[in-house]
Amino acid sequence: MGSYNIAVIPGDGIGPEVINGTCDVLEAVADKFGHTFRFEELLAGGSAIDTVGEPLPAATLSACRRSDAVLLGAVGGPKWDDLPGNQRPEQALLGLRAGLGLYANLRPAVLHRQLSEACPLKDKFVTDGIDIMIVRELTGGIYFGDRGRRAGGSFPDGSPKGQEAYDTEAYSEAEIERIVRVGFDLAMGRRKKVVCVDKANILESSRLWREVVGRISTEFTEVSVEYLYVDNASMQLVRHPGSFDVMITSNMFGDILSDEAGMITGSIGMLPSASLGAPGKPGMYEPVHGTAPDIAGMDKANPLAAILSAAMMLRWSFHLAKEADAIENAVAKVLSDGYRTVDIAYADNFTILGTKEMTAKVIEAIA
Ligand code: NAD
Repeated sequence: MGSYNIAVIPGDGIGPEVINGTCDVLEAVADKFGHTFRFEELLAGGSAIDTVGEPLPAATLSACRRSDAVLLGAVGGPKWDDLPGNQRPEQALLGLRAGLGLYANLRPAVLHRQLSEACPLKDKFVTDGIDIMIVRELTGGIYFGDRGRRAGGSFPDGSPKGQEAYDTEAYSEAEIERIVRVGFDLAMGRRKKVVCVDKANILESSRLWREVVGRISTEFTEVSVEYLYVDNASMQLVRHPGSFDVMITSNMFGDILSDEAGMITGSIGMLPSASLGAPGKPGMYEPVHGTAPDIAGMDKANPLAAILSAAMMLRWSFHLAKEADAIENAVAKVLSDGYRTVDIAYADNFTILGTKEMTAKVIEAIA
């Protein structure tokens, strides 16, 4: 019987609606399996700006560092859109990722059997189902590289180019190796297939990725490895998504491909994520969606992405596989029983529930 400290950041918009219910789901798991989850609620994002004047208070970051794992809703909204870049709510996310050293972003894209009608692809393209784990590098590459503006020189005919803006993709061997290891370790517990996505025909940084993947792969002889250029990978994702198991890629390519993979599985309201750092350090778990200002406060938000993020927390941070299965099976049962939030109600014969009722159904299915 374990005891775990969870830092809870509800955030803004629908964040508190989906996270409060997720904590209730975790309580149900604790009751069933005899664990103790201690929740510490913390401020970040717009609500932190309104309360203490900054998006990521130092007290929040230090409480997260002390915790066993962080559960986050979402941050941001129109109220704070006019603030300068470095004072905006989204700074809280970057600060948490950097402050907790979260270099590996895990985004599963699973087409739930019960939601097959939500997939925008024709049936013949998804005959094998979809179960992809996208492993995206989160703290390096072009989003963190050297950037700026400078004088742009001239074209061959002498006409001036005006100012020029640049961003830089740079990866070290150590940065690549640690994320590649996460991908191979995950593949060992899955279908043992890794696809490394890059642009090695053009980018030197991608060629270094391939060298590192090749070296690490020799330690995982059971895992098959394939290399795809990112343009081809984005085509294959819609042509034959069932062929992918674990996809390992850089920060920017992962950002784009994980949204594409997520969309082919249906609603954004179903997509969980995990961000992990060094072993033994707290990971952060959050739904992929944002604060959905258009439905905030209306009890319409789908809580399942947040609830499935909590299942990932149990599995990856606390190594409680049975308990994680209990949440995932409960979600599957509720969907099989025909319950839907508005965003995933693709036909008329479903019972439409609000956020609170949907959460209650999941809790009922766990008990
Ligand atoms: P969004 O994900 O908030 O919403 C996109 C659309 O999906 C909306 O129509 C919304 O109603 C719907 N949606 C999202 N989550 C849903 C759910 N759980 N159930 C049902 N429908 C859902 O993206 P956006 O509109 O681009 O961004 C809104 C705000 O959220 C912005 O301020 C943005 O910066 C912020 N944001 C935060 C995060 C984060 O905290 N990780 C991520 C993305 C966006």
